[in-house]
Amino acid sequence: MADKSLIQCASNWKRPNLTQSPELFQQVAKLLKEIETGGDLAIDNLSKRFDGYQPRKIILKPYREYELEPLLLHSIEQAAQRIEAFCQLQKNSLQPQQIEEKGGVFGFQYGPIEAIGAYIPGGRFPLISTALMTLIPARIAGCERRVACSPSVHPAILAAASLAGATEFWQIGGAQAVAAMAYGYQTMLPVQMVVGPGNQYVNVAKQLLQSRIKIDVAAGPSELLILANGQANQEWLIADMAAQAEHDPQAQSVLVSDDVEFLQAIEQQLLADDELNKLLKHEQIVLLQATDSEAMIRFSNRYAPEHLLLADDRIESSQLKHYGSLFIGQNSAVAFGDYCAGPNHTLPTMGSANRSSGLCVQSFMNIQSYQKISDQGRLQLAEIGRPLAEAEQLVWHERSMQVRS
Ligand code: NAD
Repeated sequence: MADKSLIQCASNWKRPNLTQSPELFQQVAKLLKEIETGGDLAIDNLSKRFDGYQPRKIILKPYREYELEPLLLHSIEQAAQRIEAFCQLQKNSLQPQQIEEKGGVFGFQYGPIEAIGAYIPGGRFPLISTALMTLIPARIAGCERRVACSPSVHPAILAAASLAGATEFWQIGGAQAVAAMAYGYQTMLPVQMVVGPGNQYVNVAKQLLQSRIKIDVAAGPSELLILANGQANQEWLIADMAAQAEHDPQAQSVLVSDDVEFLQAIEQQLLADDELNKLLKHEQIVLLQATDSEAMIRFSNRYAPEHLLLADDRIESSQLKHYGSLFIGQNSAVAFGDYCAGPNHTLPTMGSANRSSGLCVQSFMNIQSYQKISDQGRLQLAEIGRPLAEAEQLVWHERSMQVRS
C-alpha cells in the first residue's frame, strides 16, 4: 500500500528550531578559555586533538602556478571576475556624502576595516567558492590584511585564496582558527573582523568572540524556499532542492505551491528515488500546500529564507519582503549563486534575513561621520545645545558650548 502523502499544510508548518544548545556554547567557551590562558600552545594542542595536525602557515603561489585541471582553473577565474564585478558595483554605491549648510560641513564616508579573517570551511568539502566570496569583497572594500584560515589545503582552495587576494593563509580549522584570528597566533596578528561560514564550533566561536571581533552572519544550516506554480519545471526544482540538502544534514529545502497536482507529481518522483526519498522522509525536502498565491507570499515573508527561488509568474518580486538572496525565475538556480553568478553566497539563515544581510563590500567597511563647524555655526549650535546640556545637568558640556558663544 502507498505511504500516506507527505505534503503538509503551509499555514501550520514551522521551520525546525535549530538554535545551538547551551551545552555547545559551554563546550566552545571552554575551548576559548583554554586558548585565552594557554595561547599558541593551546591552539596547537586543540588542532592536534580535533584535526591531527600542527597548524601551519602556507605561502601562497601566484594563481597560475597551481597545477589544477585547466577547466577548473578557468572556471575559478571566471567566477572570480563575476564576483569582483558585483563587488565593484557595491563599492561604487558607497560614495561619501556631505551637506554644507546649517553652520558648517557635515558628512560621512566609508572606511575599510584594516585586518580581516576569512574562515574557509574544509571539514567535509573543500569550499573553493567560499574563498572567493569572502576574500574578494574584503579586497574591493580596501581591507589591508586578509587572513584566510582553513582546515583544508586542497590546491583549488589555495589557488582560489591566492586569486581572491588572501595576504596570508593558515591551515587551521574549527573554533581554534577563529580564536587564532581574534587573539593572534605565531606570526599572525589579530584581525578586527572574522567572516565565513563553518560548522557549529566555528559559528559559536564567532558569536562568543564578538567583544573582540566583528562577525558577518551566524550562518546556520543552508535553506531554500521555492514558490512555484503548476507550470514550473519539476526536474529542475527537484535538482535544486536536492542540491540545497547536499550542503549539510540539517540543510532544508521547502517547496510551496497552491497546485496540489503539481506537488503530488513532485512527491511521486521523490518517492521513486532512494536518495530523494530519504531527503523527503528526513524533512530535508519539505512539500507544502498553500491555499493561493497570496498565502504563498505570506508564508515567504514570514519564513524569511536564506535563498528564495521564485518560479511563479503570478508573484511580483516586489511582493517578497524578506530573503537573503532572491532568484527570480526558474533559470536562476541557486547553484549559480553558490558559485559564480556574482552576488554573495554567505547569507543569513534561520529567519534572520528579516533583520540582517548577506556578506557584501559594505560588511567590511565602517561608516565614519565628520563635522566642521563654522564661526557662525558655533553660535547657532550653542543656542540649541546649551538648554539640552542644562536639562541633563552636564555642567561641563554646557560650559564647552558657552565658551564658544
Ligand atoms: P568546518 O571547516 O566548518 O569545520 C571543521 C573543523 O571543525 C575541524 O577543523 C575541527 O577543528 C573542528 N571540529 C570538528 N569536530 C570537532 C569537535 N568535536 N569539537 C570541536 N571542534 C571540532 O567544516 P565542516 O565541518 O565540513 O562544516 C562546514 C559547514 O559550513 C557546514 O555546516 C555547511 O553547511 C556550512 N556552510 C554554510 C554556508 C552558508 O552560507 N550558510 C556556506 C558554506 C558552508
